Amino acid sequence: MVERKCLSCGTWNNDERFCKNCGAPLHPEEVQAADFKQREKEERELEEAGKDKLDRLLEKAKSSKYWVVRAGYRVMYSVSMVLVALGGFFAWLVAWAAS
Ligand SMILES: [Zn+2]
Repeated sequence: MVERKCLSCGTWNNDERFCKNCGAPLHPEEVQAADFKQREKEERELEEAGKDKLDRLLEKAKSSKYWVVRAGYRVMYSVSMVLVALGGFFAWLVAWAAS
């Protein structure tokens, strides 16, 4: 039997995987899993925040009162479309060449 002290609240637990007092993970595997989940969540939140910012920026550029910004948006949009099309073409080419 292993006794583990909870890192969150200091309660001594027996073989439990989670603290019987506060529910914090105690088993190394659970601690790792919780860590991983937390990191994953943070990364997702960061990603979403970044996407939101980009979306807002694009919205702003699209409806900007300055034609230069609108033109820039159009150009960027066209370029990204071409890049996506090219990417698809090359993916197809590689798949075709590999077979
Ligand atoms: Zn605890």
